[in-house]
Amino acid sequence: MVGAGPAGASLALLLARSGLPVDLVEAALNSNRLFRGEGLMPSGLAALAAMGLMPLPAAVPHRPLKAWSFFLDRQSLFEVAEPMGSPVACTLVDQGSLLRELLAEAGRQPGFRLFQGRAVRDLLHLDGRITGVRLADGTPLEASLVVGCDGRDSLVRQQGQLDLEVAPSPLDVLWFRLRGPAAEGIVGWLEGRFVTVVGAAGSYALFPSSRGGVQLGWALAPGAAPPTPDAWSDLWAGDAPAPLARLLRTLPDTAVQGPVRLPVRVGLCRRWQRPGLLLLGDAAHPMSPLRAQGINMALRDALVAARHLEPALADGDSGAIDAAIATIASERLPEIRRIQQLQEEEARRADLLRRRHGLRALLARTARWSGPLLALRWRAGQRQLRDGLGRITGAD
Ligand SMILES: Cc1cc2nc3c(=O)[nH]c(=O)nc-3n(C[C@H](O)[C@H](O)[C@H](O)COP(=O)(O)OP(=O)(O)OC[C@H]3O[C@@H](n4cnc5c(N)ncnc54)[C@H](O)[C@@H]3O)c2cc1C
Repeated sequence: MVGAGPAGASLALLLARSGLPVDLVEAALNSNRLFRGEGLMPSGLAALAAMGLMPLPAAVPHRPLKAWSFFLDRQSLFEVAEPMGSPVACTLVDQGSLLRELLAEAGRQPGFRLFQGRAVRDLLHLDGRITGVRLADGTPLEASLVVGCDGRDSLVRQQGQLDLEVAPSPLDVLWFRLRGPAAEGIVGWLEGRFVTVVGAAGSYALFPSSRGGVQLGWALAPGAAPPTPDAWSDLWAGDAPAPLARLLRTLPDTAVQGPVRLPVRVGLCRRWQRPGLLLLGDAAHPMSPLRAQGINMALRDALVAARHLEPALADGDSGAIDAAIATIASERLPEIRRIQQLQEEEARRADLLRRRHGLRALLARTARWSGPLLALRWRAGQRQLRDGLGRITGAD
């Protein structure tokens, strides 16, 4: 297994738990990336439950969202309360801690080996089949199956010559963390909500982080130069409702951590597999951050993969393994296609509001009656983004 993000760490745990030998190679020295997505939808929480990881362990900071709120040109457009008809509320989960728990649990299984801080450099081939990987220091690791869970820039995908069809990238995201006493005022104002603000300076979303403080993602046109740091909080405040604007204007520079610029990359591999090799998670389908889908889809990939791989890997026959990986890809593709299509529709609507000042002004002026109608429509469009395309089960 290559990559200990949500896809690789959860699949490694599931396979190791069923008694299979698993080597997991992770390039990073630890799970503490500065900015990781935190939103887990009911679909991802259900996948964790099927893995036996719910309720979340105490060591994993998490907080359920209370509502989704939308503001246009400083005016409240609508707010929809969680859990919106789903069995559980969307929950903000500290991804680094979740990954550490998955790896710790995998580490308790006898056949599991973690190669942390070691990057994969090459794939090993024999007679047209992938037979393992070579690490950056030259160490070869043989395997009856290589699973590339190495994220959106996947080296395994490139070396396995599995083509990624890249969708046009609608935006870059600048991620900030607001922390310290000044940010606590904003946490209080948020009251557990995920808030989206659209106005003259573009659009940004902010929510209380599971680790304390606030995460703020600001959408920029791809490649656009960001405004200078001294203008950030004034630009945010200019589009914000009055109480939030006051808090943003008094935010000291020292309270703003970041930003990290993340070009949003969205794409889908038509083929996820070739003999001896399978791609999962962002390696097979890089996801947009919109409506928090990528971790959820990665966990659901892992669950389906484990169900098909456990018998095939236990059997050890390469024909059975290759049949299993083809089944996994065909089972997961429809959900990924649909979710990416729904994210694309959300992105188009957001882009329209960002660019059309007249439309924004009209909606803001008529928010009292247009807001409830838009809320109904938005809510109806969220069902599959929240719950996925149906129930998926793990190994029975
Ligand atoms: C700004 C932003 C915000 C997001 N917010 C959310 C959110 O709130 N909710 C949500 O569900 N999704 C969110 N996402 C998407 C989500 O982060 C990804 O879809 C998800 O992390 C994919 O998981 P993964 O396991 O496939 O890959 P990754 O999480 O990318 O993990 C890949 C791992 O592979 C390792 N690796 C890479 N190359 C090698 C190599 N050669 N050798 C060994 N290891 C290697 C990396 O170090 C990494 O640990 C967001 C994405 C972005 C860009």
